Amino acid sequence: MTAAAESTVTFDGRFARELAEMAVPWQAEEAPEPKLLVFNEALAHELGLDPGYLRSPEGIRLLLGNHVPEGATPVAQAYAGHQFGGYSPLLGDGRALLLGEIADANGRLRDVHLKGSGRTPFARAGDGRAVVGPMLREYVVSEAMHALGIPTTRSLAVVATGRPVRRDEMLPGAVLARVASSHLRVGSFQYARATDNIDLLRRLADHAIARHHPAAAEAENPYLALFSSVVSAQASLVAQWMLVGFVHGVMNTDNVTISGETIDYGPCAFMDAFNPAAVYSSIDVGGRYAYANQPVVAEWNLARLAEAMLPLIHEDQEQAVAPAVEALGEFRKQYSNAWFSGMKTKLGLPESPAGSPEDETTSELVDGVIALLKDGPVDYTQFFRNLGGAARGNVRPARGMVLDLAAFDAWAGRWLATNPDPDLMDRVNPVYIPRNHLVEEALAAATGGDLDPVTRLLEAVSAPYSERPGLERYAEGAPEDFGTYMTFCGT
Ligand code: AMP
Ligand code: MG
Repeated sequence: MTAAAESTVTFDGRFARELAEMAVPWQAEEAPEPKLLVFNEALAHELGLDPGYLRSPEGIRLLLGNHVPEGATPVAQAYAGHQFGGYSPLLGDGRALLLGEIADANGRLRDVHLKGSGRTPFARAGDGRAVVGPMLREYVVSEAMHALGIPTTRSLAVVATGRPVRRDEMLPGAVLARVASSHLRVGSFQYARATDNIDLLRRLADHAIARHHPAAAEAENPYLALFSSVVSAQASLVAQWMLVGFVHGVMNTDNVTISGETIDYGPCAFMDAFNPAAVYSSIDVGGRYAYANQPVVAEWNLARLAEAMLPLIHEDQEQAVAPAVEALGEFRKQYSNAWFSGMKTKLGLPESPAGSPEDETTSELVDGVIALLKDGPVDYTQFFRNLGGAARGNVRPARGMVLDLAAFDAWAGRWLATNPDPDLMDRVNPVYIPRNHLVEEALAAATGGDLDPVTRLLEAVSAPYSERPGLERYAEGAPEDFGTYMTFCGT
């Protein structure tokens, strides 16, 4: 019975086949006592996987990598990367496996990947394992991002292994089954480039074009076009992070995808009070990956991609530099346009032609709202949602959040005079984000065996724009005694 259910989906091993130099066939570690903690039924359907089968003992073993489905060749992927600015020539999946790709309901290839599945040849000093809390954080935050409409890897399931794992204390082990349109990273190109195998680098680029940016194949210089497509995808992605107040926390080049999806939710967080310097990672002491630095860091990471791709852009490196620099130069423009356009929508203002008088006014209103937020502390998410109320005539909740009432009144007078559209605003200003204090509370409960808080939090953040009775707690800002939030990389 289960075999029939399983056979409806065939796994491919396209990455393993086309890029064998970057794929080490490997096996997951056996889990002593598997238990399914959370499962994404809707995503399973989208992938054509049978939820009933995945919940069965054999299906759960599949989600751990302990049962290898037909056609799958589990591999650990090799990649390099700049971590906090320092280059590591060999990182790779130290505790993860790519199970293979499957074609989803729309015919799109999706990676099924396991995180926490045991040591691999890339594990170095690591134990190859992951623990329940951080895997559930990735599940909750990635699914929240998806519901917000932001490109991201998805989470299919978290399975507890039944094995205690040593961290600062002993914690329950878990494996996250993650779905991505691929796991190609800037670091994958850095790795291929460093091998000096130009054929490998070209195959990697061709693979990336086929899977993510097929239009590039038609361009005069397909590899330059691929680079430009990644620049655009990242400019749009990081603008969306900034607009919802998301801090990724560890924007190393190995955590930057070629597809433009958000990947690797470690020390990530949504800002409560607006703060350009917001940092949540305990190891980011210099604030390299602080909220306001994210666009600059993304551009820096793309420069590393350009370097890795130079030999493909032109066989004469000297001649490759100018077009690469020009393509990278698009990042700032595209990022600024995406951010500004997003801010307009957050303020309920219609699109206006660049340079028009309306555009001037909008620009002043955007600067004005940022100045009000900076005057803070102002809860970023609540403030924008309350502005929707203000556009409907209920100014008091938004007004009550800022210190300088005169500045608010002056700004709001000018803003309301433009007739902002509250319905438009409510479609982009979320009520529910995965609040840090709620995430912590839910992960602590789950680590102790109670999954109810995680389930309820997931319900709230899975429909972030529609306010629902009974969920008031999920819309509130951080309690005053919550203090400075830090997440730790010992994941
Ligand atoms: P991350 O910071 O999660 O993107 O991971 C950076 C690198 O460290 C990657 O090569 C991971 O595979 C590796 N890594 C992280 N945690 C572990 C672990 N517990 N065991 C082995 N490798 C790990
Ligand atoms: Mg990573």
